[in-house]
Amino acid sequence: MTNHHEREHLALVIGAGVAGSEAAYQLARHGIRVIVVDQNALPYGKIEDGLPMWHIGLRDRVEEEIDKKLRHPKIKFLPLFKIGRDAQLSDLMNEYKFDAVILAFGAWKDRPLPVPGIEKFKETGQLIYQNDLLKWFNHKHEPGFEGPHFEIKDGVTVIGGGLSSLDVMKIVMMELVGKVLKEKYGLDYDVFTMEKKGIKKILEENNLKWEDLGLKGATLVYRRSAREMPLKVAASDDPKDKEKAKDVAERLLNTYKEKFMFDFIPHAVPVDFKEENGKLKALIFERTENKDGKPVLTGQRFEHPTSQVISSIGSIPVKLPGIPYEGDAIKTEGPLGSKVSGYDNLFAVGNAVTGKGNIKMAKEHGRQAMKDWIETKREPVAGVLRQLNDKFIEDTDKRADRISDYILSQPIPTQEEVEHVWELVEERRKKIGYTTYDEWIARHKPVRLEEILRKNK
Ligand SMILES: Cc1cc2nc3c(=O)[nH]c(=O)nc-3n(C[C@H](O)[C@H](O)[C@H](O)COP(=O)(O)OP(=O)(O)OC[C@H]3O[C@@H](n4cnc5c(N)ncnc54)[C@H](O)[C@@H]3O)c2cc1C
Repeated sequence: MTNHHEREHLALVIGAGVAGSEAAYQLARHGIRVIVVDQNALPYGKIEDGLPMWHIGLRDRVEEEIDKKLRHPKIKFLPLFKIGRDAQLSDLMNEYKFDAVILAFGAWKDRPLPVPGIEKFKETGQLIYQNDLLKWFNHKHEPGFEGPHFEIKDGVTVIGGGLSSLDVMKIVMMELVGKVLKEKYGLDYDVFTMEKKGIKKILEENNLKWEDLGLKGATLVYRRSAREMPLKVAASDDPKDKEKAKDVAERLLNTYKEKFMFDFIPHAVPVDFKEENGKLKALIFERTENKDGKPVLTGQRFEHPTSQVISSIGSIPVKLPGIPYEGDAIKTEGPLGSKVSGYDNLFAVGNAVTGKGNIKMAKEHGRQAMKDWIETKREPVAGVLRQLNDKFIEDTDKRADRISDYILSQPIPTQEEVEHVWELVEERRKKIGYTTYDEWIARHKPVRLEEILRKNK
């Protein structure tokens, strides 16, 4: 077994968000060398581009945590490297025989709005998807922002029902009302104040009524009832806890509705639209009813005039060739749902698995999946194995057998091969002008809106 002791182990993590950085850190802590690639210049994923930017404290805290992990000496962060563009996953896996590859690429593809023909309104800015909207909202104040620009139109309809659709409602209402307050009344409220106080309070403190604004406003349409919105996870499967969670969901929606002054239509799904001279004029909705917990179409249709539609019906992981999928989700197995089906050393963690989740879940998934792998199947991995003294291995004959069986069943890169990949990554970093982690991050961190506001005060 000595040969296997001597080489270091190598893992590849795709995606440097909450889940990927945590998985990488867990591996690095156990002595494994880890290459973490991300398509963007910055790591952080949805924390930068998804989590609305009014969560200043949360964003900075989580980004600092990610920095701490990615600074680990056993981790080599390679930015601006996109799987599918700069390399194919299957090529990487075949060529470099990583001990493990971890898919932590999140869920960046918006689930398409299932209304035939509606996609053409993306061009006119009358159809916006949530991921694009959030990226614009978070970064539009930056001088060098290159993403698509949007204008929220009065009379906008938002389709969705999760927590992020409520964030979308806040954004559209702040955009609409903020503009009128500024243009009509010369009142300049920044987004942080508006988000904290809410629209209702701001109007009250200026002795204004909703009618004074001359706005149609915005409507949220959900396929189920307010009580069934996935806004609160029930404490258990107990029917009482489930009812409690529904009470909370309903209360939460009502609080948001009142504070940000938007309309809500439950039990309806968009099925068609009306246009005039190539412009979207209305959405056609079909009523649903609850049958055994599922929203079922009733055949009853109604027309809802709209200037624009924002789809917030969920994100899904992109499909990469060679990975098995079950519907929109990566097909995984094991108690943690992290081992990709059909592979022994390919894992998926965080939003990449289902498209859903939050920061805590993504982190926990990344941590637990790697811990499990190291402690059970992959016990022999370098750091762990080196810490085991010979006596321990002798004492646990059976275990050692299992370990050696497993090692021998793997295609094993030599130490030279490990060094070679490490060097390749270093060369690529040099090419893009990467010096140190901290210098790179400092160079690419965008200017924050709160800093601009502070300076302009
Ligand atoms: C509007 C909104 C509000 C939210 N609010 C909250 C909240 O209040 N609290 C909370 O806990 N959570 C919130 N979340 C959820 C939370 O942000 C995510 O669950 C979490 O950040 C996901 O982490 P992740 O590491 O799984 O994925 P991501 O953060 O998406 O990371 C994936 C990384 O992979 C990279 N990547 C993708 N494809 C490739 C590729 N082909 N090659 C290389 N790299 C790639 C991406 O650039 C990204 O950096 C919110 C999300 C949204 C959208």
